[in-house]
Amino acid sequence: MRRFSYDLHTHSVYSDGTGTPMENVMAAEEKGLELVAITDHGPASPEGLTEGSFRRLLAEVREAERMCSVRALAGVEANIVSPDGGLDVTPAMLEEADVVLAGVHHPHLIAPGAASVEELKAAVVRATIECMESGEADVIAHPVWILEELRCHVTVEEAREIAETAADTGTALELNVRHLPRDFTLYQIAVQVGAPITVGSDAHSPWEVGEFKPVSKVLRRVGLTPEDVDPRALGLI
Ligand SMILES: [Zn+2]
Ligand SMILES: [Zn+2]
Repeated sequence: MRRFSYDLHTHSVYSDGTGTPMENVMAAEEKGLELVAITDHGPASPEGLTEGSFRRLLAEVREAERMCSVRALAGVEANIVSPDGGLDVTPAMLEEADVVLAGVHHPHLIAPGAASVEELKAAVVRATIECMESGEADVIAHPVWILEELRCHVTVEEAREIAETAADTGTALELNVRHLPRDFTLYQIAVQVGAPITVGSDAHSPWEVGEFKPVSKVLRRVGLTPEDVDPRALGLI
């Protein structure tokens, strides 16, 4: 099996992970990865980053990179928090982050008055699309996970609109190990329309860094190899 040489989505003690940035980078080195990103949660999440803690994260990641033979990125997993796709991070964090993932974790912030899950779904899909159009995010983290959690069915038309916007804006759609999609339609359409796809372990402890076995099967199902989803080859970083 061809191997992944990167992990673009890991958490540390700077949000709800258990390892320090150094421990995640060392774990990546031990597993033979060439690149790892520390992408802690944005301010709207409990235990999320602040501008001050993000600066400390950044300094620790730079120090870890000096001491290890792995490229280490200081990133953030921002929350999409408004109907127009706005993120919960400050302009300074956006500017300084090496990579910005954006995901929906708190859908009621996007559609506080939603009267049904269908209304909530429509708002989440629209906010995800507008987030990509804003150009602020490099990657949409686990794009359909929260909708699957809410037992919403993402239609083929909605999946196509998300995938086509990803292709048009050069925003990657993530295949996430921790939140594996139950339905692969979005990824199949993404491949057809040429939207970038990345993978992330979403590790919350160092031993999970670089663990991609479940995602490998999904990738094969949609006809992609680890090289096809390399963020460096895709020009994302
Ligand atoms: Zn997430
Ligand atoms: Zn995450």
